[in-house]
Amino acid sequence: MALLVQKFGGTSVGSVKRIQAVAKRVASSRELGHELVIVVSAMGHTTDELTCLAEAISSNPPQREMDMLLATGEQVSIALLSIALHELGVQAISMTGSQVGIVTESSHGRARILEVKTERIKNRLEEGYVVVVAGFQGTSLSSGGTAEITTLGRGGSDTSAVALATALSADACEIYTDVPGVLTTDPRKVADAKLMPSLSCDEMLELASLGAAVLHPRAVELARNYGVKLKVRSSWTNDPGTTLTSESKRSLGRDGLELGRPVDGVELVEGQAVLGLSHVPDQPGVAADLFEKLSNAGVNVDLIIQATHEGNSNDITFTVNEEELPKARTICMSVLSQMGGELLAQSGMSKLSISGAGIMGRPGIAATLFDTLSRKGINLRLIATSEVKVSCVIDKSLGPKGMRAVGDAFELDEHQIQVNPGANGIGEPEVRGIALDPDQAQVSVRGVPDKPGTAAALCTALADAGISLDAIVQSERQQKDGSRDISFTLKKNDRQNAGKALAPLLAKWPGAQVEDGPEITRVSAVGAGMPATPGTAARMFRALAQAKINIAMIATSEIRTSCVVAKKDGLVALKAVHDCFKLGE
Ligand code: ASP
Ligand code: MG
Repeated sequence: MALLVQKFGGTSVGSVKRIQAVAKRVASSRELGHELVIVVSAMGHTTDELTCLAEAISSNPPQREMDMLLATGEQVSIALLSIALHELGVQAISMTGSQVGIVTESSHGRARILEVKTERIKNRLEEGYVVVVAGFQGTSLSSGGTAEITTLGRGGSDTSAVALATALSADACEIYTDVPGVLTTDPRKVADAKLMPSLSCDEMLELASLGAAVLHPRAVELARNYGVKLKVRSSWTNDPGTTLTSESKRSLGRDGLELGRPVDGVELVEGQAVLGLSHVPDQPGVAADLFEKLSNAGVNVDLIIQATHEGNSNDITFTVNEEELPKARTICMSVLSQMGGELLAQSGMSKLSISGAGIMGRPGIAATLFDTLSRKGINLRLIATSEVKVSCVIDKSLGPKGMRAVGDAFELDEHQIQVNPGANGIGEPEVRGIALDPDQAQVSVRGVPDKPGTAAALCTALADAGISLDAIVQSERQQKDGSRDISFTLKKNDRQNAGKALAPLLAKWPGAQVEDGPEITRVSAVGAGMPATPGTAARMFRALAQAKINIAMIATSEIRTSCVVAKKDGLVALKAVHDCFKLGE
């Protein structure tokens, strides 16, 4: 007998028939003797319909009233499901978020969960009830001390379910939905996408849009942080679906459930070398050639970064272990002798990284990292960002000082700080899934000063405006005045606000200017085994070259390799990369 939290989404409870089918499913789990807490969403498109009603009256309805309105959707489904369970002779009781005691912050429309009171649910479970809880909603205490209804943000009932599973120390949290689980890519775009039997929460978060289409990312973040066993399964079959695994098991601390520390580790890897190639031709196959040769020579490349520049040439920068530098240098020189371009190689570097599920969607975190380092006078040679990790390459002599400062800034304990940890991902697949993120825009800021604090200032300005950056790339080449370019990608919707947010900063940097890139899309390969497998990036670049696709930007992180390509090439690129890692077989 187990204590299970089972969540059924809007489609699964979209009609009376479906509610009855869910009730049957719940009844049979109950017959097996499990204790059950059931979380449901609003029926079908209820939440959208309610939103439309409000928008028909006002273009700017008060957030408090929106929460009052939207929370009714889930209240309908908990009552109906309980009625259906009664019909089947199953003892069940429904509870709203406030009846349970799901306590949230007071920010309406996007409240984070601070605490879940468990007493009332536990009592009912002991009495043999199935407890049916309204997802997506909670209650906050206003400054005056009165209780207010809040909602967690669209898709938030997944997060309600995992929060309940955490608070109740449930044996598992099962998310029942209208897809069979998490697939290797979007099956509407690639017909032979396959179900993944399991993946880690970190991989799911790195798959960005692909993962988010299946589960609310905040639910994955909670599961990762508190070690909840999370499953995604189809509501219509008995197939096992996908299991999400997590390593870390944080104990429930005094910080709010969802507000726990966003960063839970800092890592310093010493003895790194940076190889920067500049002015290499901007054409398909260049990155493939270079990284294939490196891989064939057994050189394991860590970070890779590339951005397109004015004229028809690229800069490609990558890092390797210092011992590999001579070999890597020879290979680079021979590649450059054929196609032109310059090499700048530098050893005596270290990689400093922060990691944590809370980095995603909180742009201030990367900004804090960069700012902390710049205050210590540390220049960032290279930056790599992803959903769960931000790394920068700095001078080795400044590594320990930087690490301490960063540990302090994020209030990390001794055991969360690691120097030269062993290799990660041994025995894991190099690539598990491929995501295509079409809603990206590429922006370059030309002519920024090359000194500590530049990247920090840029990220802080954007973070203050609530804008997350991805793939920040500093150019290898310097302008005659010593300045450099910084390119990045961001969500298309944020482009306009980014311009406004950067204006005051640009005014301080004479000659600096913002430039928009062409229409792009981002293809990302994600796999926990990537750091332990040489040649992954080379295989991806080769697949794109064979499809005659030019790579505008490359940005890698520990378990993710992303290539930015022209928007028109997106689908072909996705298929080519999915095929090259044989994910459809
Ligand atoms: N009903 C809410 C929504 O449609 C919450 C959820 O379904 O997860 O966003
Ligand atoms: Mg959902």
